Amino acid sequence: MPGKKKTPEKIRVRFAPSPTGPLHIGGARTALFNYLFAKQHSGSFILRIEDTDKERSNQAWTDEIIEQLNWLGIEWSEGPDVGGKFGPYKQSQRSDIYKEYLEKLLAEKKAYYCFCVPEDLEAKRQDQISRGLAPKYDGTCKNLSEKIIESNIKEHKTSVIRFFIHDKKVKFHDAIRGEIEFDTGLLGDIVIAKNMDTPLFHFTVVVDDFLMEISHVIRGEDHLSNTPRQMLLQEALGFSHPTYAHIPLFLNTDKSKMSKRQGDVALKDYHDKGYLPEALINFMVLLGWNPGTQKEIFNLNELVKEFSLEKVQKSGAVFNLQKLDYLNGYYIREKSISSLTKLCLPYLQPLNTNQYNVKQLEKIIEAYKARLKKLSDIKELTDFFFVEKLSYDKKVLTWKEMGDREVKESLETSVKILSNTEKWDKKSLEELLVGAAEAFNTKNRGYLLWPLRVALSGKEASASPFEIAEILGKEKTLQRIGDAIDKFI
Ligand code: GLU
Repeated sequence: MPGKKKTPEKIRVRFAPSPTGPLHIGGARTALFNYLFAKQHSGSFILRIEDTDKERSNQAWTDEIIEQLNWLGIEWSEGPDVGGKFGPYKQSQRSDIYKEYLEKLLAEKKAYYCFCVPEDLEAKRQDQISRGLAPKYDGTCKNLSEKIIESNIKEHKTSVIRFFIHDKKVKFHDAIRGEIEFDTGLLGDIVIAKNMDTPLFHFTVVVDDFLMEISHVIRGEDHLSNTPRQMLLQEALGFSHPTYAHIPLFLNTDKSKMSKRQGDVALKDYHDKGYLPEALINFMVLLGWNPGTQKEIFNLNELVKEFSLEKVQKSGAVFNLQKLDYLNGYYIREKSISSLTKLCLPYLQPLNTNQYNVKQLEKIIEAYKARLKKLSDIKELTDFFFVEKLSYDKKVLTWKEMGDREVKESLETSVKILSNTEKWDKKSLEELLVGAAEAFNTKNRGYLLWPLRVALSGKEASASPFEIAEILGKEKTLQRIGDAIDKFI
């Protein structure tokens, strides 16, 4: 059993999610910060699945976490799916390893069996609270004799294993938050295992971080208060301490703490809505990291060069969805039209997209590219291309103060003009229709072009009638204008 102090020479970091739910966007950011830190130091980034909570952990969540990280482009060199020399990388497969270390702590009297029943513990807790004290374990089972312990175990009395926490000040340097000091006298002896086969979080983290030679533990600030407990365990086991870096939590724009109720927290929700991985990477890195310049567009390769843990802020990171929309729009517009079309197609289901060939579909996407904040917007914007008959209120066809008679006349003029042309491309249609619109009403082109555009799209806002007509083709265009005229009969 390795147990002596050693100083890891190499940068080795880990992302250690508990597979009890979907990958949280905060978790994805933790993974990203670890990945960037490892990459820029030519170190190793490890994925470790912390599934010691047997009731709440689930293989499906592990799969989902791996799938979402793959989608983001965050790669690990050791993990449950790829193996590695420090494996297994799933805590549920490491019970024998933990057992050895639990036995060691028990043998050295650094941990002890506790037979207190939950009801008594709760009553004591309430009593301490009512007396204005910070609740902590009162040490009832601290000094039980070997004989009592043995007979209790023989009688199968329910027990847990507690770790002695001595009163002292634990000090450490957090790479983000600076000097941290904790008074462990406030903690009380913590439970590190339910039994020899069921070790708990603090214990497994400490054993694994040591055995996997983790040099830096970069994790959310919600774990800050766990660090002194884990450092005491490291000391008891004769392990060296890794360097700690606790990254700030997310805040709402009003600086209140973000919770699940206020919006999407699962990365998959953003994925499903059509946020691009590039945008999410860029967005997440800015949640807490300040590049120190005006630059805000960063791809993963640039981040490997430019990210630095020192520039991660201490204060909460404001989660600004508008920023995400802005970044997503930017990356959408960076895409080639053919790859954007491929990305949009799943969002157009179940509409009948087969009626158009690839070139036509690309034209549809091109016409709406500038308006897309996320890929899922495409359906609402372009559904009218795919339906047989449009349904909309006739009032929408009216431009300004036009009456029914004028709208009908406008639509009939469009029919006349369009019936007589064979040049059916956007540019030619624009030249033709703009000229006709100026002749139709000298005050504003809208008298001809508005009813035409609505007749083709059924929408108050859409791409130009020239673009739409080109994609629909002559037959469908004339058919739709005809349908609009019929509304006035
Ligand atoms: N498994 C823990 C969690 O999902 C993370 C532990 C750690 O990073 O030390 O919150």
